[in-house]
Amino acid sequence: MMIEAMNDTKILTVLGSTGSIGTQTLDVARMHGYGIKALSANTNFTLAEQQAREFRPETVCMTDESAYRELKARLADTDIKVTCGKEALCETAAIKADMVINAVVGMVGLEPTLAALNAKNRVGLANKETLVTGGELVKAAAKANNVDIIPIDSEHSAIFQSLMGNSGNKIEKIILTASGGPFFGYNKEQLRSVTLEQALKHPNWSMGKKITVDSATLMNKGLELIEAVRLFNVTPDMVEVVVHRQSILHSAVEYEDGAVIGQLGVPDMKIPIQFAVTYPKRLASLSAKLSLFDVGTLTFERADEETFVCLAEARKAIAKGGTAPTILNGANEAAVAAFIAGKIPFYRIGELVSSCCAEITHKGDVTLDTIAEADSSAREYVMKKI
Ligand code: NDP
Ligand code: MG
Repeated sequence: MMIEAMNDTKILTVLGSTGSIGTQTLDVARMHGYGIKALSANTNFTLAEQQAREFRPETVCMTDESAYRELKARLADTDIKVTCGKEALCETAAIKADMVINAVVGMVGLEPTLAALNAKNRVGLANKETLVTGGELVKAAAKANNVDIIPIDSEHSAIFQSLMGNSGNKIEKIILTASGGPFFGYNKEQLRSVTLEQALKHPNWSMGKKITVDSATLMNKGLELIEAVRLFNVTPDMVEVVVHRQSILHSAVEYEDGAVIGQLGVPDMKIPIQFAVTYPKRLASLSAKLSLFDVGTLTFERADEETFVCLAEARKAIAKGGTAPTILNGANEAAVAAFIAGKIPFYRIGELVSSCCAEITHKGDVTLDTIAEADSSAREYVMKKI
């Protein structure tokens, strides 16, 4: 993939600016003095106000209506425009910027990604649900508008970096590393009694709640497998999932000659976030440096897909294609929200995802309408079962 370098002065839009990736993106912007064109958030008007006062964007879009009203009142003494709703979020993504960082959580990120690409804005993509549900549409929009998508997810950034300088060379496989999450080594019986508090304690990364639960079920790796297939045009069987408990090797690429090129570093999302913005340059960063002596040992193991069924379901969904990954994702979003709300135990997430994927029929045709329909049938299915 040939991607052009960006200018040195950067004006960014950050969607999902109050979240884990969003706040770290603003840390990077603060360090390098990047301008902020627009911000978006959902409910957290307190942090959105602080960010708006510090970075002085033109626009802040709040999805939640009462948060919008509160923020509008709080920013009344400024000339910052405050907007609200799904359409406004797409309009925000379409404002001209050097890069739109999409760090919202969930498939709600799909239309803003498309809006950014259709406005010819380069996209730094953290929102993996975008590629899982609407990968074909996103790729087509990027191609039609001749704009690039640079991955921020640490594994995909590592793969992207491992592909640099190798265009034209045949790759044999992608090695997608997984931390294994807090329940690595547990059997089905042990998973029946785990708590939300335990699920939210990720061994290596500090992230938003939804992705932290996804890491505990291994659905995160399933979504990332689909993300890798979409981003790097490989078949699902070319993606090998390897559990690597230390999260130091962020992923790798094996070439035809047997050479394996990977990217290593401390587990800190500011590294892939910054690289997405500065690509192909590298700048000094706020992140700690890796000491292999301190790490000592790197281990690699197979994932247990019989216990962690979400990963196996993701493989099946990408093999089916069409709207099957959307059904998987919709069931998972609904089940994870129910788990976080204390309505179902942890092990039910996998069960609900599996039965939903088996019972809801997918469509081969992928459009915004078929995606929306598949997503709502999956969510309704899960809601009925809980
Ligand atoms: P968080 O939950 O920390 O943040 C999510 C952001 O999205 C917040 O700004 C939130 O607003 C906003 N948001 C939530 N719901 C909506 C909605 N319905 N409409 C619009 N905005 C909404 O998530 P993360 O930062 O952890 O993750 C963001 C994305 O990046 C996810 O897709 C995740 O899988 C991916 N990712 C995250 C990594 C990480 O280290 N965190 C690593 C790799 C990928 P508010 O807070 O105001 O309610
Ligand atoms: Mg990841």
